[in-house]
Amino acid sequence: MVKDDCIFCKISKGDIPSATIYETADFRVILDVAPANKGHVLILTKEHFDNIFQMDAETAGKLFSLATVVARAIKEETGCDGLNVLQNNGEVAGQTVHHFHLHLIPRFKDDEVVIKWEPKETVAEEQQALAKAIKKYI
Ligand code: AMP
Ligand code: ZN
Repeated sequence: MVKDDCIFCKISKGDIPSATIYETADFRVILDVAPANKGHVLILTKEHFDNIFQMDAETAGKLFSLATVVARAIKEETGCDGLNVLQNNGEVAGQTVHHFHLHLIPRFKDDEVVIKWEPKETVAEEQQALAKAIKKYI
């Protein structure tokens, strides 16, 4: 499925130009136009999924398989010391383009990229109960 007013549908199909690194039948791998660091890559699905909640398991498997190859390529070229894999779902989670995409962000010692949260305290029994509650949907 393609969504008419979706910029990443247009980019993934090649209707809007992008700095494309690689392409398969299912994905287009591009450079982010406003990167967190040099070498910040996005993997776009060619099919339109708003987010992870819509994505099928087969596509997700192929996606992560491709991500491992692309991550190594980024590391080879940029000489990065580390890399964040990031994927935002929904406005509250920071998603701005509502077409599924995976961020691969190379990290360098002392770069000023911030991906951070304040860890919350947990209670072991509550964690066990929550784990069980979530499991029932799997
Ligand atoms: P997110 O906040 O996870 O939805 O990320 C959207 C990402 O898409 C941002 O990092 C943008 O810089 C990037 N972006 C938006 N438009 C374009 C475009 N035309 N080409 C490449 N990257 C884009
Ligand atoms: Zn789309």
